[in-house]
Amino acid sequence: MVTGFLLWGATMSDTCDLCGGDRLKPVYRPQGTTRGITVHLCAACGLVQSLPRSDREKRNPAAVSSAADWGNVRYGKGFRTGQAMEALARHADLSGGIALLDVGSNRGSFVKAFLAAAPNAHVVAVEPDERVAQSCAGLAELIEARIEDAALESGRFDVVHSCHTIEHLAHPARTLADHHRVLKDGGLLILDAPNIALLASDDIVEEWFIDKHLYHFSAETLARMIEAAGFEIVQQPDPSDRSNLLFVARKSVAARPAADARLAEEAEDLIARYIATRARNLSALTAVAAEIARLSPRGVALWGAGRLFDSLVVHGRFNPRALTLLIDKHLKPLVGERHGCMVAAPEALSESQAGVVVVMSRDFAREIAAEAKSLAPHAEILFYSDLLSRAQTRLAA
Ligand SMILES: [Zn+2]
Repeated sequence: MVTGFLLWGATMSDTCDLCGGDRLKPVYRPQGTTRGITVHLCAACGLVQSLPRSDREKRNPAAVSSAADWGNVRYGKGFRTGQAMEALARHADLSGGIALLDVGSNRGSFVKAFLAAAPNAHVVAVEPDERVAQSCAGLAELIEARIEDAALESGRFDVVHSCHTIEHLAHPARTLADHHRVLKDGGLLILDAPNIALLASDDIVEEWFIDKHLYHFSAETLARMIEAAGFEIVQQPDPSDRSNLLFVARKSVAARPAADARLAEEAEDLIARYIATRARNLSALTAVAAEIARLSPRGVALWGAGRLFDSLVVHGRFNPRALTLLIDKHLKPLVGERHGCMVAAPEALSESQAGVVVVMSRDFAREIAAEAKSLAPHAEILFYSDLLSRAQTRLAA
């Protein structure tokens, strides 16, 4: 059926942004997509990409959802500033008057950290979202535009820094080539993007293929795109970091991206594994929700109001009224409430009657536990990941 093909598959004009091939195969329909996104796999080179490439639709309201419509609450980038600064300090001399282009500056977390370490530097900050762009005014030369529309002169910069932006673009290869153009010879690219390897996590419950991400890179596919744009990679991503791909590359000459059937097979297996694991974990969430509800007479504070909390309510049918407190340091200034619960700052924990703190975070679980312990020394601390793995074990038995 022609209509079915158009709805589900690539159109004639869609070609792979990495290798230019036209064998884009639909492999997955994300849960809760409001843009009608289908995830495709390039059978020639293995790059996973979402179609249609609708990168210029008007903004949806802020949604802290665990489904594909998650977005417009952009607070994750700030967590990556430390890693970017570390990489930069290793490869560049920050004492001189270096010129840096910051792509997608958001609230200026990186710009501030960079200028603290390199006070003589000149920064150009590109940020299209007028609601947050002004955070960089006064610190940097601010361009309120999308990076594709920013007119920048060739050979102007010593460093281009781009954190969790490339995956949102309709044509990332073109933008990488433009980063190459605006760099001086030997200039440095610091590029950070989400890592598709996270799909292999045993505890994944959130929809990973969100509408706002049009490209889903592995260390290999992103390395090839960087090299094809004319860079030589001088620092590979940390192989133990399943969430992020942080590359450091130097301006050099372009290489031709090769087709690779092995990468295509690996990506297909990875997505199949994700679909199965996530379905299993979503069923286990009902048991996690029941376990937290049983603890409610002791007073439960849940720390983390983001995607895991949303999954627990939506898929685990958790009743948020069972909570004494819902805490989220980073979301509190951005959203007032989630599922009918007021979002509180951590300090509220010390005045609350909570006997149990459940840590709803994977990447920052240890830091949160330490903070919770200091605010509520007598409360028992439980980790979401432990609750989930117990539920998984019971489910498998
Ligand atoms: Zn391809």
